[in-house]
Amino acid sequence: MKRRILNFGSLNIDHVYRVEHFVAPGETLAAISYQKNAGGKGLNQSVALARAGAPVCHAGQIGEDGRFLEKLLQEEGVDTANLAVTHQPTGHAIIQVEPGGQNCILVCAGANGSVPADYMEEVFSHFGADDWLLLQNEVAGLPTLLSLAKARGMRVILNPSPITDTLLAADLSAVDLFLLNETEGLALTGESEPQAILETLTARYPDAEIVLTLGADGAYWQSGGERCFCPARKVTAVDTTAAGDTFTGYFLACRMEGKGAQTSLGLSAKAAAIAVTRPGAAASIPRWKELLETTV
Ligand code: ADP
Repeated sequence: MKRRILNFGSLNIDHVYRVEHFVAPGETLAAISYQKNAGGKGLNQSVALARAGAPVCHAGQIGEDGRFLEKLLQEEGVDTANLAVTHQPTGHAIIQVEPGGQNCILVCAGANGSVPADYMEEVFSHFGADDWLLLQNEVAGLPTLLSLAKARGMRVILNPSPITDTLLAADLSAVDLFLLNETEGLALTGESEPQAILETLTARYPDAEIVLTLGADGAYWQSGGERCFCPARKVTAVDTTAAGDTFTGYFLACRMEGKGAQTSLGLSAKAAAIAVTRPGAAASIPRWKELLETTV
């Protein structure tokens, strides 16, 4: 069977309200407008993988209110056979955006926040040693997911985002590839310089590959003593949401196809640069065809 990537990750509904000012304690405020968007790092990365042409299966939980997320993933070509619909509400965020562009966000983990072990085991029974597992840190049960993947001999990729105390306390020695940004690098290593982050992580996980993204300053790849760098494309960013998710999806899709680290960094930087020139999260992620047709 062809190698697949299992993305066991979050699915969220983002409720976005434009407001004159953030609602204050005791105040009732009318929103100027409302928009409902698909979100969650897990979902965004599955969309990025699919748009980059990778065979991706998304596992995770939604409630009945999240059925449109399942449909969205299916329309993107993501395999949703392992998605579970539970009695909990779908994970969601209440986002206020004020005229200056600042936002304030209330997140409710919902169905992402309690993932039963028997469901995890059932999902992993469909995957084997040829397959890859991609994780972020927006669903509960990271340590169990890591050990289930290792027991099946799967390659494990972790985007350690968002950083939480549970993540910092977890044994991450099962991870074969870390994809992280500078903030996450600082939290994991205590170092703020890219070189020091790479060195500290490589010393701690000598067999792991590391991709460290630096926003408009580019991205590094490191494996043992080997390192390469790719600058970011020069573009006018309008919305950097999902830049990292786009980069992650494209990098993994390229590596799955057997492309080298430098080539994969370059294509991922191009995809992420296109994404930052457009508003929105999943909606801003380019398709492979666009990459070939666009000069950025
Ligand atoms: P995250 O979204 O996880 O914080 P980064 O901000 O590090 O991730 O961005 C990931 C990648 O997206 C960068 O390595 C770069 O290639 C691209 N990118 C991000 N911001 C910009 C930007 N302003 N201009 C061009 N490329 C960008």
